[in-house]
Amino acid sequence: MDLRAIAAAPTDRERAAVDSVLGSAPDEAPMPAAEARALRTLLLPGLHALRARIGWVSPGGLGYLCRRLGVPPAEGYGVASFYALISLTERPPAFAHVCDDIACQVAGAERLCAGMTERFGPAAHAPHRADGSATAPAKTSGTVARTWARSPCLGLCEQAPAAMVSVASDTPQMTAFGGATVERIDAALHGTQTPAPVPLLGGEGPRRLLARAGRVDPGSLEDYRAHGGLTALRRAIELGPAGVVREVGEAKLLGRGGAAFPTGRKWESVARAPERPHFVVCNADESEPGTFKDRVLMESDPFAVLEAMTIAGLATGSSQGYLYLRGEYPLAEARLTHAVRALRSSRLLGSDILGSGLDFDLELRIGAGAYICGEETALFNSIEGFRGEPRNKPPFPVQSGLFRKPTAVNSVETLVAVLDIVRDGARAYASVGTVDSPGTKLFCVSGRVARPGVYEVPFGTRLDALIALAGGVPGGRRIQTVLLGGAAGTFLPPNELGVPLSFEDTRRVGASLGSGVVLVLDNTVPLAPLLRRLAAFFRDESCGQCVPCRVGTVRQEELLARLAAGTPFGSVQAELKLLDELGQAMRDASICGLGQTAMLAIQSALTHLSPSLEVQG
Ligand code: SF4
Repeated sequence: MDLRAIAAAPTDRERAAVDSVLGSAPDEAPMPAAEARALRTLLLPGLHALRARIGWVSPGGLGYLCRRLGVPPAEGYGVASFYALISLTERPPAFAHVCDDIACQVAGAERLCAGMTERFGPAAHAPHRADGSATAPAKTSGTVARTWARSPCLGLCEQAPAAMVSVASDTPQMTAFGGATVERIDAALHGTQTPAPVPLLGGEGPRRLLARAGRVDPGSLEDYRAHGGLTALRRAIELGPAGVVREVGEAKLLGRGGAAFPTGRKWESVARAPERPHFVVCNADESEPGTFKDRVLMESDPFAVLEAMTIAGLATGSSQGYLYLRGEYPLAEARLTHAVRALRSSRLLGSDILGSGLDFDLELRIGAGAYICGEETALFNSIEGFRGEPRNKPPFPVQSGLFRKPTAVNSVETLVAVLDIVRDGARAYASVGTVDSPGTKLFCVSGRVARPGVYEVPFGTRLDALIALAGGVPGGRRIQTVLLGGAAGTFLPPNELGVPLSFEDTRRVGASLGSGVVLVLDNTVPLAPLLRRLAAFFRDESCGQCVPCRVGTVRQEELLARLAAGTPFGSVQAELKLLDELGQAMRDASICGLGQTAMLAIQSALTHLSPSLEVQG
């Protein structure tokens, strides 16, 4: 895009799209600087409005949005070009994203992509080709508009292969579905509605996090109340902020997003921070490949997530919350949006909630296809209207988070766990689980199992027992390996499948629970393409801010491609040593967790499973 063209006039429809977010403006006079700074947080919602109504962001549309917000066009371009779901090149209004990430690879994503190519022509860009042959965006040829693109994980792994289709119009549609075929995608591109996915829920012992999932009407506040909703909030009001923080601390609740930080300590730090205002942020940017538990919670029990955020607001002295939801979860967005409206109209969000004097309200913010925005400081930048690049830490979010104010950030699962703790007390919560990992945990079981789905089990349940709950490996095949924790997790060999699933036990075997991914691979799944897909994922999702990550993820992917092709530089041993050194440099010198962990799963596979890599030389 030529930035000189940013002065291009918007079309009437582009103007209407932007005005739907910012309100109409008879003239485009520049606004005062202070007002412009405050409005910058609407930059991403404005880009979404253009994407949803027009299908892409043209120079005219971007220029109009930037002028309305007082954002320099170069910065607006920088933000727009950061997100995979925002296209700055022309697209047809109906567009499909086809997942080719690890779980979908196991379920035949390459066959689906080949079918898409045959029906619709080449993908708009192919950054994720499993054969490593296309690592740069493919150019559109002349005026031929591409209809589909490969996508990283869409969070529908239990129903793989998955696709997401958006149809831009004044009444935009976006739908994501599993069991994707060329025919179903074609139908969705032509406006046929696909039924909402019904997730498989399982587990052992009493359901806590999933207590209402599948049983409550996610669109009914009354049904939520009838199923015990809002009792935790009433109890929290009785306990008061200090009492809530105490219970959460005594329950030893550790963050479920991957970092496992004590939630009580985080809330206490924010509550005590002298600077005001404080913020609560729910990190619902669930983008770790193989992860879909938060999607299931938000789709099936949306009021619970919002009730838990309200309790977090009470505990931390925050009267404003933000829920940052990944852009690939249209059903969760619809249900949460409805739930927010229902709570507001019942005065359960806003001022003086339940007559207690508690003021708390929240906004949904929708991501736009950037895995790195799951990193908490990148998420703040994204909400604030900047590129979603991580910040240096310290300062930590509890001191300087959203809008540089003290902020408590928690994942969806962490927040929903708070409801039981507050309602029943820390002691009851710890009646299951292990001493250091009390309570229950959600696991996303996918790949080669009979019943992929979300499983809730007490901490300490053995991994092989969890796989057995999911029906084990079908067809008499045997387990080759299990990817535990996600793309930055660990490939466990068969002799380690007895590991108890707790924070402390997985640490002992050099693994981590991560985001709860359990991707089961049987002995017929070729491992080498999956490793290259992981490497491509990190290369594609690196924000590029620091050199070790930006260059290291590229070199890692190239090296794996050479090994797979049997054309190593020097010898295989020399390549493996180089891979190790690359990983060390990335671990030591990257700013954030993406660069620091991008090699973990690949290295664990090379350590435990090298015979399966089919390397030659
Ligand atoms: Fe960006 Fe990678 Fe650096 Fe993280 S480690 S800030 S993703 S370049």
